Amino acid sequence: MDICYSCGGDIAVIKDRPYHYDECGLKVIIHGITQYDCLACGETYASIPNTQRLHLLIGSHICEKRKALLRPDEILFLRKDLHLRAKELAKILGASPQAVSRWENGKKPIGETHDRLLRALYMMYASEQANHVICQGALDIFSELPAKSERKTITETEEIVLNPQEWLSDTGDCCSI
Ligand SMILES: [Zn+2]
Repeated sequence: MDICYSCGGDIAVIKDRPYHYDECGLKVIIHGITQYDCLACGETYASIPNTQRLHLLIGSHICEKRKALLRPDEILFLRKDLHLRAKELAKILGASPQAVSRWENGKKPIGETHDRLLRALYMMYASEQANHVICQGALDIFSELPAKSERKTITETEEIVLNPQEWLSDTGDCCSI
């Protein structure tokens, strides 16, 4: 990129600034992304390579979270990355489409069983896509998930921070780093 797409102004290339990947709907901070700032109008651009792998990694981080059940934004991310409509995910999980909508809009927390099932489904999907086990330790993760009585608030948010070596190499085993 040489000039600004908006105004044609000069561009500064920035390599060392963490990128807040708000487009994915979650708090994700990525290191190693080249960014471009327009010196004239202030517009900023980012070049994000290998978004498929990036999304698999974000999904895996979500599935490996142990302290709390899945939040609405996390459920939505996993469903979108599975390329499923709410109705389709509902059928797969044995839930009603209304239940899936309520989990995603925060009106009702996901239950423990559906939480585990959705994680397991995504872990299998991610591993298939990546052609290797991308998310490990399911038994440990699931055994450390809170029960209903100790459930944390679903609004609790947590940042996911990704480093380049985690997702820019095709051979790297992401989640063991
Ligand atoms: Zn500009």
